[in-house]
Amino acid sequence: MRKIDLTNFQVATSETARDINRRIVLNLIRNHQPISRADLARHSGLQRSTVSVITEKLIEEDWVREGASGHVPRGRRPRFLHLNKERVGIIGVNVRPATTTIGFADLDANFVAQESLPTASDPERFIADLTPRIRNLIEMRPEISCEGIGVSLPGRVDLNSQRLVFAPNLGWGPIDLKTTLEQATGLQVELENAANACALAEFWFGPRREGVRNLVAVTVSEGIGTGLILNHQLARGSTGMTGEFGHTTIVDDGLECKCGNRGCWEVYASNSAAIRYYTGSSSAVRNGKAAAKPPAAAPVFDDILRLAEQGDQKAVDAINQVARYLGIGVALLVTGLAPDIIVVVGEITRAWSRVGPIINEVVKNRSFTHAPTRVVPTDPAGDPRLRGTIALVLQKHFGAPSVA
Ligand SMILES: [Zn+2]
Repeated sequence: MRKIDLTNFQVATSETARDINRRIVLNLIRNHQPISRADLARHSGLQRSTVSVITEKLIEEDWVREGASGHVPRGRRPRFLHLNKERVGIIGVNVRPATTTIGFADLDANFVAQESLPTASDPERFIADLTPRIRNLIEMRPEISCEGIGVSLPGRVDLNSQRLVFAPNLGWGPIDLKTTLEQATGLQVELENAANACALAEFWFGPRREGVRNLVAVTVSEGIGTGLILNHQLARGSTGMTGEFGHTTIVDDGLECKCGNRGCWEVYASNSAAIRYYTGSSSAVRNGKAAAKPPAAAPVFDDILRLAEQGDQKAVDAINQVARYLGIGVALLVTGLAPDIIVVVGEITRAWSRVGPIINEVVKNRSFTHAPTRVVPTDPAGDPRLRGTIALVLQKHFGAPSVA
């Protein structure tokens, strides 16, 4: 049971029940579309007349449309309802240290257009590069009205100041990306850490979301991030810093990390770690520069994956080593949080037939709680880092209302 927060609450008004029921109906339509009013009443437990009032309002506001008629043996044929996909469009921006992807999604979180650009090394330049591309995407689909921009970042956003405060792999200082981008585009901007965005993507749009209350997303890229959904809610902490398991120490007095500490999980289990294992380099941080940007001649993570697939022993060893260290951190999450599911996101999932069994073996040996946690790879085609940004904006319409 959630305790009432007496420093931040909203009392129930006569609008509250209406708002809750409306959101329930809207979500039922999203999950079961096309669906009849009778089925909505059955799924929600609301009176048929209440469902009719709510759906008429949703149709009037253009959130929902009536489609084909259903077939029944006798009586009036029901008209099926579905979301009006073009009611709201959202721009998603996925910032990674080298490349940024942007997409324009409809209300069903399907991308109708997508492109990418190099990530500039300073944030002002980045905004200048990004803004015209966002405008182009919106202009390409004038029938969809764009409501806002969701941005996923390889760093943490301070909840109070909305500044990017911790982005060791990106190298940007503390910047108010939200206000800057809002002023440049005239659209509302929501920022979120990439791992949190992945957790939201999996929770809102993933194939395994039914019945899941607690979910952890582990993003493996230049670093490691974790996003936690606990009891149906994204855990952010008081400041927005919840989930930095990538920077917990797993090797005492280990290699130096870009965060300034030593022996962090991400130094041993990220793509950068695989490159280091493969090249035999002993330093995680080269000349003070991010190991995520190796010299041109050095292999990139994709090369190592490809070589491992071809049976190159050095590459296989590097991937196995990363998998073992991934397992150590995942075991910690299983033991400490016992989530229903842990989803692993990143290029490493392409080698899941090799990596998955190693992770599961380490978890089995280290976690004695026998939590029924499933550890699964995400489908890279689902593009969770980008898709999660859509949930950031859509939550406003589909999320549970906060009262009391
Ligand atoms: Zn660290």
